Amino acid sequence: MSTSPLDILALAAHRDDVEQTCGGTILKMAKQGYRTGILDLTQGEMGTRGSAEDRAREAADAAKILGVCWREALDIPDGRVENTWENRLKVARVLREQKPRVVILPYWKGRHPDHYTASILGYEACFLAGLAKLDVEQAISTGQSVFSTEAGASSPHRPFKIVYATLYYDVRPTFVVDITEQFEARLQSLMAYKSQFSDQEAGKGIFPTQAEIRSRIEAMARFYGMLAGVTYAEPFLQKEVGLVDDLTAIPVKSI
Ligand SMILES: [Zn+2]
Repeated sequence: MSTSPLDILALAAHRDDVEQTCGGTILKMAKQGYRTGILDLTQGEMGTRGSAEDRAREAADAAKILGVCWREALDIPDGRVENTWENRLKVARVLREQKPRVVILPYWKGRHPDHYTASILGYEACFLAGLAKLDVEQAISTGQSVFSTEAGASSPHRPFKIVYATLYYDVRPTFVVDITEQFEARLQSLMAYKSQFSDQEAGKGIFPTQAEIRSRIEAMARFYGMLAGVTYAEPFLQKEVGLVDDLTAIPVKSI
């Protein structure tokens, strides 16, 4: 694993969330030469299908398909992602190590508590990571706020941009990324989670078939693509307004 800064880091609660919500975008950025990474907060030990070890192997396979330079899973309990001081520090430590310019977080509302909690936790960790006087290593080992004036390996870093991947929630995105070229590979990265998505007996009643998953994913990607006049896209939201220099270069046709 390299120590040069990442351009883009996608953070999510569960292994396979990034593949589902912004995998096409991650792959597209990697193809454009950017250094991309994925931070999964949990290891998937509560899953109906497969073990945490199966999921680790599958996550590595998926990462290869998406061309990411760096991927890690924290040890936050699956099904119990909580926005605690300890968890914020764990994420802040990663942000300081990887120094991403852009962070992709899950949207802050949703059905699954791990998803929306990961959003708030991620945002607050981005803030913490930038506090010059916070000694993250000491704070992790003591559980206290430890302040230091020495800049070490864990020097402060705050990402320039935070965007939210909104695919899990019904909200109008502020922009979409065209993933028409990446759609097939992105689907393959999801199918790399064989313990989850291959047709099998365990959890048959609650998991859709592979063919059904494919058509759902395609329907969603087509819907967001259609909003911007492309075939397939992934939706995002940013809290900031857009900044424009040239009105004639704004994409997406109005009429
Ligand atoms: Zn999830």
